[in-house]
Amino acid sequence: MSTTLLEVNDIKKHFPIRGGLFGGVKAKVYAVDGVSFTIDRGETLSLVGESGCGKSTVGKALLRLFPLTGGQVVLNGRRIDDLSAGSLRPLRRQMQVVFQDPFSSLNPRMKVRDILAEPMTNFGLGKSRSEMTKKLGDLMERVGLRRDAIDRWPHEFSGGQRQRIGIARALAAEPDLIICDEAVSALDVSVKAQIVNLLGDLQKELGLALLFISHDLAIVEHMTHRVAVMYLGKIVEMGTRDQIFTSPKHPYTQALLSAVPIPDPETKPSRILLKGDLPSPVNPPKGCRFNTRCPHAFDRCRTEEPELRILEPGHTAACHLNDTALPEGLTHA
Ligand code: SF4
Repeated sequence: MSTTLLEVNDIKKHFPIRGGLFGGVKAKVYAVDGVSFTIDRGETLSLVGESGCGKSTVGKALLRLFPLTGGQVVLNGRRIDDLSAGSLRPLRRQMQVVFQDPFSSLNPRMKVRDILAEPMTNFGLGKSRSEMTKKLGDLMERVGLRRDAIDRWPHEFSGGQRQRIGIARALAAEPDLIICDEAVSALDVSVKAQIVNLLGDLQKELGLALLFISHDLAIVEHMTHRVAVMYLGKIVEMGTRDQIFTSPKHPYTQALLSAVPIPDPETKPSRILLKGDLPSPVNPPKGCRFNTRCPHAFDRCRTEEPELRILEPGHTAACHLNDTALPEGLTHA
């Protein structure tokens, strides 16, 4: 069996903006504009960036919550982006999701038992009633909840407990990959750490792969194998955790990391403040999309878009400063 579980090749999602008398397409939102990555079995890839950079749209596109504008998605060796809804249905088991908001992501009119049983029934995973009851109890224990809490309603649980139920619901389908879309962002700091630890334990136990979508680099550093940094619909840098956190090569990654709090009181952080807000994905800047905020931008950045280049095995970045031939007076980032 190949070690690669998911292959994402040059995916694009452009949302049309309609208007005018006849409702024609006035403009497009270039939410995701050519994103490629792979995830191996049992691996965690974190997709990070500011709010509005397109990272959650990538997650939703992989789940086929809407059709892609372009590109391919291959899961377990099978292309899934062009499948009909009917052909895709049995394959949905392999890729599950945990959403950000533990309060709105569980149906308040269903008991936990029914919430967890739904995916098992849909995918034919519980053969008999007794087998189903055992599996449901095991799932509750696996996510750190009591077996006998299964007949309670979602509102009887705390935020952290509800997120555990959300994780149990994803596990009920026996997936290979879980997409965690800002899955711990709405939780208190201590609960956040517990849920991250739970995800790590489940990954080791079950060999799960995780796509961890987050804006919180402090959390990502503790639990990821690799990181992909997104800016305005594109990946600008990708590498192992150590490559990204100890030797970031893109000025945007460097700015994001400079904002992560350092626990050591002796270390004085030098924060890189970015100018302005994220530009509109309707009209992204020409050349390098980061040029309007980059402290190192030079003329070439405003006309020529940098490509993702391999800097060392496993480490890529899209920045002209990493080219071998640099403009006079500039050094590598
Ligand atoms: Fe900054 Fe230019 Fe590099 Fe873009 S290509 S990140 S603008 S230096």
